[in-house]
Amino acid sequence: MKKDTYDTIIIGGGPAGLAAGLYAQRARMKTALIERAMAGGQVLLTELIENYPGFPGGIAGGELMEKMEKQARGIGLEIIKDEIAGLKTGEGAGGNRVFYLRGQAGLEYKALSVIIATGAHWRRLGVPGEDKFTGRGVSYCATCDGPFFKDKKVVVVGGGDKAVEEAIFLTKFASEVILIHRRNRLRAVSILQEALKNQGKVKLRMESVVSSIEGENAVRAVKIRGVSGGPEKEIACQGVFIFIGIDPNTGFVKDKIKLDEKGYIITDNEMASSLEGAFACGDVRKKTLQQIIVAAGEGAQAAMNAYRYTDKLKGTAYI
Ligand code: NAP
Repeated sequence: MKKDTYDTIIIGGGPAGLAAGLYAQRARMKTALIERAMAGGQVLLTELIENYPGFPGGIAGGELMEKMEKQARGIGLEIIKDEIAGLKTGEGAGGNRVFYLRGQAGLEYKALSVIIATGAHWRRLGVPGEDKFTGRGVSYCATCDGPFFKDKKVVVVGGGDKAVEEAIFLTKFASEVILIHRRNRLRAVSILQEALKNQGKVKLRMESVVSSIEGENAVRAVKIRGVSGGPEKEIACQGVFIFIGIDPNTGFVKDKIKLDEKGYIITDNEMASSLEGAFACGDVRKKTLQQIIVAAGEGAQAAMNAYRYTDKLKGTAYI
């Protein structure tokens, strides 16, 4: 058990968590941010961010997150590398309600409040061959793996912002990019659809789903079928990039905090969850717009509300 009791512990180091860390530090809260991998979250896997204000011409995902981390560390944010497996509440010194967070290797952390900013992970297709060929042709990250497909033929699965953005990016390397989408129109925002149309290199296979990924040691082809039936067809390819949405990382709180039917944390407008003292922000929180700017804004709000909550708990609030 770590001896210190933090005012707040932030779980997750994406834009929501880092923004919460910045605000909590500035409010002089005793704060730690716990992140299981590298701070930055999913944004690290995005080549170019063109819709975060302040960066005309865009900024690389990795660079933006590096700046956010540097800014939060610069003001003294403690960043701990660990993965939180569960949390419970109990009574701490002085009778205050305390959160106990269970890390890996049995380490336990104590805090008066928690801010959950654990984000989401890429959804899997769940078709034969997907697991077998992950890392051998199947990928969930064009930024990481795109360069391996120079002059090769790849398919992209999905019709949202991510699929369209990454299909365009992959044309830098691949000899051919085919976007496979299950509906007759794309879900991506207009500006991305326009960009797709204007660059003219990506071929579309609409109203089709991938039924299996084929190969021996690496991907050789995908089998697709029309959503309204018809025979299966094989498309030869060496890469399969899957961008069919995200699922929230909430398994570790599912018995403690109210989630919606998809597993997202339900909060009020103040980012407060159903568990007193536990706030949520970013992609892990139920909402209609999952964007970096929204995540960062919610992180700030969660931190300020955690500040008010802990201040009251400690009896140091002046209002
Ligand atoms: P998304 O918006 O949820 O889109 C997922 C796409 O995958 C949809 O087109 C969906 O089809 C399809 N799909 C879902 N399950 C499928 C399955 N089992 N088989 C085949 N297709 C399937 O997800 P996303 O594109 O990953 O984006 C996630 C969030 O991040 C969104 O809120 C998005 O706006 C945001 N984002 C924003 C940007 C940006 O602003 N530049 C970039 C990336 C992501 P249907 O259309 O039929 O549902």
